[in-house]
Amino acid sequence: MSNIIDGKAVSLEIKEKLKEKVEVIRAEGGRIPCIAVIIVGDNPASRSYVRGKIKAAEYTGMDSRLIEFPEDVEEAVLLKEIQALNTDPGVDGILVQLPLPRHINEDRVLDAIIPSKDVDGFHPVNVANLWLGRPCFVPCTPQGIIRLIESTGESIEGKMAVVVGRSNIVGKPVAKLLLDRNATVTIAHSRTRDLAALTRQADILVAAVGRPGVITGDMVKPGAIVIDVGINRTEDGHLTGDVDFASASQVAGWITPVPGGVGPMTIAMLMENTLKASGLSA
Ligand code: NAP
Repeated sequence: MSNIIDGKAVSLEIKEKLKEKVEVIRAEGGRIPCIAVIIVGDNPASRSYVRGKIKAAEYTGMDSRLIEFPEDVEEAVLLKEIQALNTDPGVDGILVQLPLPRHINEDRVLDAIIPSKDVDGFHPVNVANLWLGRPCFVPCTPQGIIRLIESTGESIEGKMAVVVGRSNIVGKPVAKLLLDRNATVTIAHSRTRDLAALTRQADILVAAVGRPGVITGDMVKPGAIVIDVGINRTEDGHLTGDVDFASASQVAGWITPVPGGVGPMTIAMLMENTLKASGLSA
């Protein structure tokens, strides 16, 4: 049976450290870091993610602004709000909760956020800097995944890492972060032939697919570190990952649960990025 990587506990430790830093800022009479979160429409999952982000800001003592728009908001109105936040000296970080309604061009909206306040790390300037190895805002979920791997105490260097999924928000950036730490990285996707043969070679296996149970125990190398990024809702409303936990946990050395693995880390990393955007290091 594997060791469980407790994302809740690791994220709590990070948030405690951030809280201490914010307390020092407050005691010294400094300006409290502030994140602005924009949400469009009433998607229940988006609402729940946004609630989690605002709660985390409150927990760490940071300021937050929740800006809500109806589902039918015009793109121009959203862009105008972002422009106002870009130049607002009281706002350090700006996050637009995705997905946006179909009539809004997501790229145009994300591109409108000034890169120095882009705490999600999705702006092309931050993406380019990540790939160039320059200072940037690193996207929260990939950064959280790295911190979870590091929390095991095992080194990443020289390990064979397989990332299943090649999205811009998880798969690609986490592959780059693993490469930066000297792992040998392979990215798999829906056209990969014989996925199991590949994953069985992985010392570090990251599943970011969005399909429940796509990784089963027989696809895991004994002793591997398995990070399950997937958040899938079952018919009875429960959350489940991309990894079949019951079988994979019999084989892996370390494994993240869903929920309580990567999810809480994403939010903790967002708070770290907000502190960084305010000019302080986390
Ligand atoms: P996405 O944009 O839909 O990308 C999914 C990737 O999986 C694609 O690259 C796709 O390949 C690949 N794929 C699909 N079916 C496959 C299969 N049978 N075998 C191998 N690869 C396959 O998803 P995402 O945004 O990266 O999110 C992935 C999952 O992580 C979702 O469940 C999402 O909810 C979750 N997530 C969690 C967090 C968190 O904080 N915990 C944050 C973000 C996302 P192609 O490119 O060939 O189509």
